Amino acid sequence: MVDSDRAPSGLLGEFLVTPGKTIPELCEIHHAILENAGHAIIATDLAGQVVYFNPAAQRMLGYAWDEVVGQSVAGFHLPEEIEQRARRLSAEMARDIAPGFAVFVAKLAGRQADEHDWTYVRRDGSRLPVALSVTALHDGRGELIGYLGMASDISWRRRSERDLQIASLAFKSQAAIMVADVDRRILQVNQAFTTLTGYSAEEAIGQTPSLLKSGRHDPAFYQQMSESLASNGHWQGEIWNRRKSGSIFPEWLTISEVRDELGKLTHYVSTFSDISDLKMAESEIHNLAFYDPLTALPNRRLLLNRLGQARAAGKRSRQFGALLIIDLDHFKNLNDTLGHDIGDRLLLEVAGRLRASMRAGDTAARQGGDEFIVLLENLAAGAEAAAVQAEAVAEKIRLSLNEPYLLHGDSPYFHSASIGISLFCGHDKTTDSLLKQADIALYKAKDAGRNSIRFFDSAMQTALDARARLESRLHQALARDEFRLFVQAQVNTARQLVGAETLLRWQPPGAAMVAPDEFIPLAEESGLIVPIGLWVLDTACAHLRRWADHPLTAQLYLSVNVSARQFRQPDFVDQVRSALARHGADAKRLKLELTESLLLDNVDGVVAKMQALRELGVCFSLDDFGTGYASLSYLKRFPFEQLKVDRSFIRDIATDPDDAAIVRAIIAMGNTLRLSVVAEGVEAEEQQAYLVEHGCTCFQGYLFGRPIPFADFERNLAGGPAGAPQN
Ligand code: C2E
Ligand code: CA
Ligand code: CA
Repeated sequence: MVDSDRAPSGLLGEFLVTPGKTIPELCEIHHAILENAGHAIIATDLAGQVVYFNPAAQRMLGYAWDEVVGQSVAGFHLPEEIEQRARRLSAEMARDIAPGFAVFVAKLAGRQADEHDWTYVRRDGSRLPVALSVTALHDGRGELIGYLGMASDISWRRRSERDLQIASLAFKSQAAIMVADVDRRILQVNQAFTTLTGYSAEEAIGQTPSLLKSGRHDPAFYQQMSESLASNGHWQGEIWNRRKSGSIFPEWLTISEVRDELGKLTHYVSTFSDISDLKMAESEIHNLAFYDPLTALPNRRLLLNRLGQARAAGKRSRQFGALLIIDLDHFKNLNDTLGHDIGDRLLLEVAGRLRASMRAGDTAARQGGDEFIVLLENLAAGAEAAAVQAEAVAEKIRLSLNEPYLLHGDSPYFHSASIGISLFCGHDKTTDSLLKQADIALYKAKDAGRNSIRFFDSAMQTALDARARLESRLHQALARDEFRLFVQAQVNTARQLVGAETLLRWQPPGAAMVAPDEFIPLAEESGLIVPIGLWVLDTACAHLRRWADHPLTAQLYLSVNVSARQFRQPDFVDQVRSALARHGADAKRLKLELTESLLLDNVDGVVAKMQALRELGVCFSLDDFGTGYASLSYLKRFPFEQLKVDRSFIRDIATDPDDAAIVRAIIAMGNTLRLSVVAEGVEAEEQQAYLVEHGCTCFQGYLFGRPIPFADFERNLAGGPAGAPQN
């Protein structure tokens, strides 16, 4: 209640409290009504100064009586809002704003007493949307004495209006949206739906989504979708649907359940987008990356992939396999005398004959020029028997290549080939040495007068011996502290340092430094990679911790290579967590580089591990991208944030249009999937320029710095021998 000595003064005050206008009891009742009203009630005099301010207004605005009585009501408003409204009322009024808000209020009150939405500014500066009506106050004689404002809080209404607005904007999105009821009857679709499927809203509403079924998926697929929806309330994946026109297209579909406050299922909301372009890019990448454009035979890369698989299979079955390198004799002569077109025709014909000579499961590939490679799998389990089989196939190939060729005109053309063979069983030798052995055998065949077949054998033992020696030295390397962790810079388009990758080195005492490619495969096979990987992780975390303390390094990411066997350790997540904790390193600065081979089995297990690590803050980069098999839909299942384009593509980017096309497609795909793309192995300015031009934003390679010890790296950063963190 307003106490009497605080009663407002002025004309209006008199009107409210002076007896004689009305009886005192009535006056008190009026007061009680005003004071207890749920709406904010603010009365002003003609000058717009507050003369009455009820408790609801005090609560709403956070001012006490004393603070507002006698002040201008303009203080509760946003000046820009007043100006804007005035302008809307009339131009003439806008001019009146300057002398005083009251004039504006007066005109407002004079013209319309309806409610308007306004924004109040509370005492603490926060804003409150209100519906405000302003009316003119007249005394008993009909004379204007002031204005009365009544305001109610409409923040709830504003919020739901905003929600509706957002929802309706979202509905206008580029993605098709479909809302269905619990019986899966379509209730609503958006314009993008119509654009994408060809069905208008009228045609779609009332139907079920099976309207779009392509017939490409079996019932089990839809069953799995229903189950996932029922258990997670959510499904997403790649699905083929059919447009009204009958054409089939791939889409990325997300279905979510909508439940009411009581948890009862009320609707399904599906959103989808056409991913044909991505699929095309994906198959283009695949074709360019794995097939020889001239003969359509697998290329060397695909062959090496298959070789990897063949060796993995052979390791289990103990069966031998064979690698045949086939070189056409005197091909250069033909090319030089008859021209490249004829040369190409011969290569095509050879490819056809090789294909015809293959057994199911064998691979014929073109390695480049006039050299072909054939991979034979599932030979006998004994070396001698396997050699006999391989020779039989080689002989069949040799004879078929000796058949006459019709290249131009009617005169048959005769050509021969030399073949070198090396046998393998599981991982008994590295890929490199396997290829080298086949090459050596090929030279022996050429030496023997061409048109012949030779095996590699004598050097096999030497290689095996060397490998065994390496393995035993590797066993002691950790205990003897012979590993070193090097680091290589990663930069952005402006060549500013953004992070670095750790690269392992082995420094046996008194011997040359050993590169990881020479010992990591061996360490993988023997299981030594697990303790070695732990050491790498631990060392990297220790460096990260030091880096955090220095402004030049605090913002850098540190990427650590993780091998498949290491990642598959059941306690890998714990290993990372404890390495971070042991050194107090920031997980958000740690990036783990995984290779595609790791993603091929136990997808759910891999995703779960990655997710657990992401929760710690660790992020993931997909290393050597483009050399493996992972497809787009496959990749989407894993929470990567970065792709690293394999350096074999970067190497020939300026000279090989196929490699350039692959790189462009990878960058485009990365951008579409919102993955950052790092190009590795950048050695030349023109390589970087090309990459920048096509949207790549992160780079690593000798052009920016070689892998070097941390101490050197930090010294370089600081621009001299002192200033950076040191060990
Ligand atoms: P990666 O992960 O693809 O590493 C990049 C390789 O490219 C490194 O070879 C690096 O020295 C090299 N490189 C960087 N810039 C250029 C360039 O401009 N031109 C050329 N030609 N090469 C460049 P590095 O150090 O010999 O490592 C080879 C591989 O060994 C790595 O390939 C990675 O797969 C593996 N590796 C290295 N350190 C570790 C490790 O700590 N753990 C595991 N599991 N593997 C590792
Ligand atoms: Ca790497
Ligand atoms: Ca790589």
